[in-house]
Amino acid sequence: MLKIAIEKIDELFALVAQNQALYIPSDNKDGAAEYTRWSEGVKYSNALNTLRSAKDFFFPQTEDLVDFKMSGKNIEIIDIRKETEDFVIFGVRACDAKSFFILDNVYLSEPVDSYYKNRREHATVITMACSKPSETCFCSAFGIDATQPGGDVECASDGTSFFFEAKTEKGKAFIDSVSSLLSDGDTAELDNAKAKTKEILAKLPLAELSTESFGADKLTELFNSDKWAGLSESCLACGTCTFVCPTCQCYDIKDFDTGHGIKRYRCWDSCMYSDFTKMAHGNPRLTQLERFRQRFMHKLVYYPANYDGVFGCVGCGRCLAKCPISMNIVKVMKALEVK
Ligand code: SF4
Ligand code: SF4
Repeated sequence: MLKIAIEKIDELFALVAQNQALYIPSDNKDGAAEYTRWSEGVKYSNALNTLRSAKDFFFPQTEDLVDFKMSGKNIEIIDIRKETEDFVIFGVRACDAKSFFILDNVYLSEPVDSYYKNRREHATVITMACSKPSETCFCSAFGIDATQPGGDVECASDGTSFFFEAKTEKGKAFIDSVSSLLSDGDTAELDNAKAKTKEILAKLPLAELSTESFGADKLTELFNSDKWAGLSESCLACGTCTFVCPTCQCYDIKDFDTGHGIKRYRCWDSCMYSDFTKMAHGNPRLTQLERFRQRFMHKLVYYPANYDGVFGCVGCGRCLAKCPISMNIVKVMKALEVK
């Protein structure tokens, strides 16, 4: 396997950034990791994960879609789409890497979302194996191996070097482009480090979380559970859980009159919001119980029903850390599971 000493990683970043935009997790002024475009002085973060997920690269929070110009009864439609330039995302954890495939199922199936596809095709994803998973992590419940995160290039560290392994043709091209800085590495220490990480993963408080009580065949009993009232009672409908979630995929489309024409844009929306399903005829989900139930039924029942049993959660733990009332998908799963 090819490697580079950790203290030389900035040299690799500089080489990559000569040809394309490179984004790495870097600590902001509050000490939270955020994906940041690399330039000299931007340092790679040691944080386990970023505050906001990597989905922003492919599904940004707001995005202009199309412009219109009105002249009498005529409408001129202006296609503002542009081919995205190639870019590299470095340091994506296994949970976020899996979330891309959950989003792909939705956005790359017919009708294909050309905005999403454009960015997805131009990105090279360099993942980073976890070495210090947190107590809020439960990716293993969804079959994810945090020590083998995948992507175009899989990267892992033994504490002194970063090791690289290409997983796709794009990944091979990336390795070729930085090969002048890489050398052959003995992976004995890396194997030890991965074994230690697996020991930590097995001892995490959520290591035993089971998905057995969930899935398409549990739809009716879970939908009708009397537990939803108690679980949803304190929900503030703030939408934080949906906005930090790497797999939440809902958006709203609006038109804005600029004075010189109409700009149609989309922005993230949340099924936790009271107007999310509001239509001309009214709103089919009138209570927070219904909205709360929808979010978790989608992740644990509806999504697996549509996509071969794959769950719509990757166990990243962001909602566990960020919900202001400490409600989250783990509490929902534990409350609803059949023991
Ligand atoms: S973050 Fe918590 S309070 Fe806010 S909408 Fe989600 S579950 Fe409700
Ligand atoms: S539901 Fe929570 S733990 Fe699951 S992917 Fe979304 S933010 Fe992460």
